[in-house]
Amino acid sequence: MTDRPAPQSQNLGEGLEDMATAVTHAGPEPRSQGGVLNPPLYRASTIIYDTVAEYMNRHAGLYDEVIYGLYGTQTTLALADALAALEGGGRCVLTSSGTSAISTALAAVVKAGDHLLVVDTVYGPTRKFCEEVLCAFGVEVEFFAPGDASALSGLLRPTTRAVYLESPGSQTFEILDLPAITQTCRAAGVLTLADNTWATPLYLRPLDLGVDVSIMSATKYVSGHSDAMIGSICTLDDGLYRRIKDTAGRWGQRASPDDCYLVHRGLRTLQVRLERHERNGFALAQWLRAQPEVRRILHPGLPEDPGHDLWRRDFRGASGLFGFYMEPLSGDQASAFFDHLEIFRLGSSWGGYESLLVPAWPAPVRRHPQDPGALVRVHAGLESVEDLVTDLERAFVRLRALRKSAA
Ligand SMILES: *Cc1c(COP(=O)(O)O)cnc(C)c1O
Repeated sequence: MTDRPAPQSQNLGEGLEDMATAVTHAGPEPRSQGGVLNPPLYRASTIIYDTVAEYMNRHAGLYDEVIYGLYGTQTTLALADALAALEGGGRCVLTSSGTSAISTALAAVVKAGDHLLVVDTVYGPTRKFCEEVLCAFGVEVEFFAPGDASALSGLLRPTTRAVYLESPGSQTFEILDLPAITQTCRAAGVLTLADNTWATPLYLRPLDLGVDVSIMSATKYVSGHSDAMIGSICTLDDGLYRRIKDTAGRWGQRASPDDCYLVHRGLRTLQVRLERHERNGFALAQWLRAQPEVRRILHPGLPEDPGHDLWRRDFRGASGLFGFYMEPLSGDQASAFFDHLEIFRLGSSWGGYESLLVPAWPAPVRRHPQDPGALVRVHAGLESVEDLVTDLERAFVRLRALRKSAA
């Protein structure tokens, strides 16, 4: 597919100072936009041309220029270029959400008759897109357990076109051996795509590890303020970039310039926010580990986590999203635990400034065995960690009181 050098692991502990400068400066040079620092907000459908010759030739600019609102304005291209630079210097296509980035990228690489391998721990809507849409379009989809990654070469068929990855896995946080997987796939001429929403390019650069397409829900950490939705698809391969850009157009995928503006604004503070999400996440995980009701913490940054060694080798940090298993909860017990939280909020999505606590049930959709306990997902926000611990402590006190009164 490409003649890039063999993938290399990143150097943990290198520090993120380089990324701090990169996120604050990513995007067009201010003097190229009248001295304004953030890229101005351009909304458009129609773009006008001076001559009929330019108009007739406009599609030559599809991949690099502003030719029609559907394909992005200056605001869109500024964010796309900034994210591409952070992911390792290739090109980027933006879509309306992380979910549409996933469906667009997959639609760009597989067709009827192809075999697609997908890690079993993918984000739920990714799984549904594969099972409900790709299968109906004649793609043969097969899920593999994250622990089977070393046996991946045995799963490849002559018709295998692509392997879809997510590390850590959604809800259960398993870490994949990305360099080993991409090496196997490259040797077999199979494309790899990876969801990089959890780490962002600040903590993991999948393209450096040999992944062909890195996908992100910029709705989460990059936006950071729970009020905008954007998906990004990055690749170092120009042919793949063009195919993805074409596919986005065929499906009518457009990233809103207003949301691109907000996400670019959020990007400026990504490095400082992630450091705090990480610190709060570690502190909460360590506090939870000491609670008698907690069976197991799912956080690759903890030394006892099965994915810890791979995480240390490949990632430069942990974001603030992790999980923990408790003893199973009855409906009343779940209400006692979740319904009276004062700082944590109950809600989908994550990556914003606010802490979230939600029950998670990955078991029914996955093919591979899960812990039968109650799984809770924590998003550590930017609040004071003491306030967060107090809130959690009260939830455990309510749960204990209820269990005691029932005993
Ligand atoms: C939320 C999420 C997405 C989807 O992003 P949206 O912008 O909400 O569509 C994709 N992947 C992962 C891992 C996510 O958590």
